[in-house]
Amino acid sequence: MTEPDPRAEARDLLTSLGSAVSSEWSAPGRVNLIGEHTDYNDGFVFPFATPHRTHVAVATRDDGRLRVISTFDAVPVEVAIADLDALFPTVDGDHAVPEWSAYPLGVAWALIQATEADPAKLTGADLAFASDVPVGAGLSSSAAIEGATASALNELWGLGLDRVALAQVGRRAENEAVGAPTGIMDQMASMLGEPDAATFLDCRSLQTEEVDLGFAAAGLSLLVMDTNVKHAHSTGGYGERRASCEKGARVMGVPMLRDLAVADLDRAAELLDDVTFRRVRHIVTENQRVLDTVQTLRTSGPRAIGALLDASHVSMRDDFEISVPELDLAVETAVGAGAIGARMTGGGFGGAAIALVETASVEAVARAVEKAFTAAGFAAPTIFPVTPSAGARRDG
Ligand code: ADP
Ligand code: MG
Repeated sequence: MTEPDPRAEARDLLTSLGSAVSSEWSAPGRVNLIGEHTDYNDGFVFPFATPHRTHVAVATRDDGRLRVISTFDAVPVEVAIADLDALFPTVDGDHAVPEWSAYPLGVAWALIQATEADPAKLTGADLAFASDVPVGAGLSSSAAIEGATASALNELWGLGLDRVALAQVGRRAENEAVGAPTGIMDQMASMLGEPDAATFLDCRSLQTEEVDLGFAAAGLSLLVMDTNVKHAHSTGGYGERRASCEKGARVMGVPMLRDLAVADLDRAAELLDDVTFRRVRHIVTENQRVLDTVQTLRTSGPRAIGALLDASHVSMRDDFEISVPELDLAVETAVGAGAIGARMTGGGFGGAAIALVETASVEAVARAVEKAFTAAGFAAPTIFPVTPSAGARRDG
């Protein structure tokens, strides 16, 4: 069996439209190493870019129109650049174009909004997408398609936006053109990633720093264990968690939970009801764990961060209550089989967990988790290693 080659697939798809490739771009998905639900509390996150990427092949057009096509949906969607602002922002999530196309077309719209470019002066293009980022597996295929599109059009249109600005464009497209209320983490990781490094992001200031992970030199691998449990109840759960965080901050008299430190938790315990207190404790301790992870990597190397990953999982399971039995089983089994540390990652209520393991024991840990899922009567998980990789780039 030959490996899928999404770069070639994107090129072929573009060629099938009768267009000639003028440039090729790609952007990765992301995995969050630590820092969960901290983003909307103005806190810290620490994601890295995946080796899985979304590729786009670009051809220029001289008629001021954009045409997008994807291997997901081989019916092209075409609009005049001048008509984008009649399509977006979307109202009540009602799309005038097929939903997937709101990601790339929304990026085009958000680029114009951000730069106040004159649509009449912008070159038209055909954009063909192909990807090996699994959709809905917690790897953020949405940020990957946004990052690839934003990078390609930024250059085609000579806009000169930097990577942070392009991440903000991607977020705006997702929030306002697609209508999905997400933070900035995914786009930042996809735009800024570097090999064997993670992006330390302060969600308040948007300051970032690439921090070496040193997994390769230490002989460590990071396994993604996708439970294949879909985030069925996540919409309500996510909103409730956000509301608890807002309430906690209000009662504690701070703008955001980011403004509380671990030393404030005793006072929080006195002032807050039990549930709100535990939600607050997760955010406050999780922010501290992100800072500790960055510090620990610098002083002691990647083997020393296992306990922080484990503690993050316990906090999400017991205090934030966003785990599910499948995620708990994946984490416990991985650690029992020798993982250095493990935690659920992403928004919770399903999705994936990660485990930091010796590269030599990747197979053993994966087999142990699969066996445990079978024994528990759970659907089979999808387990694969991810190597922290480069962010968005031009490939050709
Ligand atoms: P994820 O966790 O993977 O980011 P989202 O629901 O946020 O899940 O985004 C997935 C959606 O993004 C898909 O349903 C599709 O609309 C769009 N998408 C992602 N990648 C592609 C692609 N290569 N081609 C077309 N649409 C894509
Ligand atoms: Mg997404």
